[in-house]
Amino acid sequence: MHHSRYEYTQAMMGTTVSLMLFEPNETVVQHVFNTINQLENKLTVNRPVSEVMSINNAAGKHPIRVSHAVYSLIEQAWKVSLMPDSCFNVAIGPLVKLWKIGFSGHQVPDPEQIVEKKSLIDPNDIELDPNSCSVFLKKVGMEIDLGAIAKGYIADVIKLVLQQHKVYQAIINLGGNVLTIGDSPIDAEGYWHIGLKKPFSSVENELVGLIKVKNKSVVTSGIYERYFIENQHVYHHILDSKTGYPLDNELESITVISDTSLEGDIYSTILYGFGIEKTKQLLKNQQNLSAIFLLKDKTIKIVNPDNFAFELLNREYQVI
Ligand code: ADP
Ligand code: MG
Repeated sequence: MHHSRYEYTQAMMGTTVSLMLFEPNETVVQHVFNTINQLENKLTVNRPVSEVMSINNAAGKHPIRVSHAVYSLIEQAWKVSLMPDSCFNVAIGPLVKLWKIGFSGHQVPDPEQIVEKKSLIDPNDIELDPNSCSVFLKKVGMEIDLGAIAKGYIADVIKLVLQQHKVYQAIINLGGNVLTIGDSPIDAEGYWHIGLKKPFSSVENELVGLIKVKNKSVVTSGIYERYFIENQHVYHHILDSKTGYPLDNELESITVISDTSLEGDIYSTILYGFGIEKTKQLLKNQQNLSAIFLLKDKTIKIVNPDNFAFELLNREYQVI
């Protein structure tokens, strides 16, 4: 069995995007990267102009009509933000901008600033009108942030683009969001092998293990991807709306295995906040979702192991 690989990479969305195909197809590659560009242009809050920035700039003033795609993504993110105990918050923008984690100028803010921004992050202060696809942020200074789910949404759209071009075997990696399409042609059993990175490793791309899946999304959210250290404390990029500080718990990373990358993104944030016991309860009723927790004490805990295979590569870690 011999298969050539065709890998295409581009720096986009603050990360490296890569697409692997098994037949050369320049047309589809163009389409994929153009689509990512177009969607990023609509969703970003890291540039002055985008559909989401129009909403944010009109906060406290008036509603803004957006495209159907952007509306629908905001609506989903909003619903997830209103779920009881959900640490996912689509209105987290003001705090993200205050901390600037992963960007230049990051800082531990003054407590007064945190208190001030916390008054601007209530998802109940977002008004959605499905008839006109418009979004209104009721208070001046409010900001929507889709950073936790934009990549997942885009990955799912890319899968559709590939299918429209009759590409049924491919893998797309949007920096933490890996979406596998079909079976792998380079594995005898058809599994895609996705590396699970060792957090804070001094060696680039050192792995804890391999996650083996077919036709699934694998999303990892960790405290080691974007963070800064001050006074020996790690400040990472998933923020807690209640405290205004990065979520603090026993986890180094969480990986969600799911059918769509959007689900993977939503659940990686929610389950990161839930921790292991609550995740076990929740996923009892959602057998298509699996989670791999890497703990700071170097243990690995797996919930719903049936959707993938896991191969441990690093003996410092232990699956229990
Ligand atoms: P990555 O970009 O590393 O894949 P995640 O998918 O975990 O990261 O999302 C982190 C991003 O989500 C942050 O950079 C920020 O833009 C946004 N964010 C931070 N805290 C929250 C939160 N509690 N709810 C929703 N989005 C958040
Ligand atoms: Mg995410």
